[in-house]
Amino acid sequence: MDEVVALASELIRFDTTNTGSPESTRGERLAAEYVAERLEDAGYETTYVESGAPGRGNVIARLPGASAERGALLVHSHLDVVPAEPSEWSVHPFSGEVSGGYVWGRGAVDMKHMAAMSLAVARRFGRDGVVPPRDLVFAYLADEEAGGVNGAGWLVHHRPDLFDGVTEAISEVGGFSLTVADGVRAYLVETAEKGVGWLRLSTRGTPGHGSLLHTDNAVARLAAAVARLDAHEFPLVLTPPVRDFLDGVSALTGVPFDADDPSAVLGRLGSVARMIGAGLRDTANVTMFSAGYKDNVVPSTASAIFDCRMLPGREDAFLREVDAVVGPSVSREWKSMPPVSTTFDGTLVDAMAAAITAEDPDARLLPYMLSAGTDAKSFQRLGIRHLGFAPLRLPPDLDFTALFHGIDERVPVDGLLFGARVLDRFLRMC
Ligand SMILES: [Zn+2]
Repeated sequence: MDEVVALASELIRFDTTNTGSPESTRGERLAAEYVAERLEDAGYETTYVESGAPGRGNVIARLPGASAERGALLVHSHLDVVPAEPSEWSVHPFSGEVSGGYVWGRGAVDMKHMAAMSLAVARRFGRDGVVPPRDLVFAYLADEEAGGVNGAGWLVHHRPDLFDGVTEAISEVGGFSLTVADGVRAYLVETAEKGVGWLRLSTRGTPGHGSLLHTDNAVARLAAAVARLDAHEFPLVLTPPVRDFLDGVSALTGVPFDADDPSAVLGRLGSVARMIGAGLRDTANVTMFSAGYKDNVVPSTASAIFDCRMLPGREDAFLREVDAVVGPSVSREWKSMPPVSTTFDGTLVDAMAAAITAEDPDARLLPYMLSAGTDAKSFQRLGIRHLGFAPLRLPPDLDFTALFHGIDERVPVDGLLFGARVLDRFLRMC
């Protein structure tokens, strides 16, 4: 299993930066070919698929299991990463350097660590002739960081045959440990993801010379609406995974959980509170604002974009609140991707718990809701159940949440070795 460290380091060295624009996105094909070669070395037949856009490589391989009864399990990782600015880092972000007990580089936690772990386990299973209880489909995908248009989203539309018989999937973002009290580790399994919405607000007013009296200024009206929406707090709604998670943390720490004011329990979570806290309510954050073209001209239009994240079942209520806050003089456009959610039970969850506790006996597993979105949104269109499970044991003081898309992204070598052992156990009994 030690090869997982070398695999993670080598994967990081492929600069698979996804800028969102095809001309400047590079490296995915080379990384996908590297993965395909490693799988073929271990006896797999692989399928390499590009979307219409050249270079956006995806690799899929299937290991037949003992029984078809429960359908296949998809183990997917994305190979693309968000950009990194080398001058801000302690090491070069595409060096894959192994030092100080960490593997460093862009993608170390999002999510080449999981690509390396699943590749290490797949290779071992292939070499040793392991027959898992059900078919395993290993997938290494492009373009997750821009919504999966050339990756999961494209495959689901154009090559659903590659996922024939798949009923469940594991991937990011879950399976990592959170130290909630001295030596007490909870492992967070993602059972839900918020919905994602793209909200564009625009106003139209009377244009003219900047020196005149203006009572119908599109920019000022939009700015006021943006400020109102920014200041608006959406209601606290405790969805089942969030309630179960906070109940679990309360039980592990002895800190009482008050459903009307979960802040006491949240306070025990350290840096992860930012992510868990975002699961308590809908959010709308303004990300772009554009208006005007000349310093002495009042323009006729202005527009702003909000990144919106809605709890499962809240999209309609969310939009009613937005309309009430911004008012009738602002028009809106809306695009959304649905939430993901499943229950925290069944054979797959039992196998996760057994695999984790075999390696970390006092650990507890807790469900949680991710405030962001992943490729799970695409795969659920095929009716595939998603659980975020990319096991990692983390040191108590590591600000794991900040490493996603962050500077000095890195993964602990011990945690990676632990994760590969857990994944190996899990996939033998999934
Ligand atoms: Zn990711």
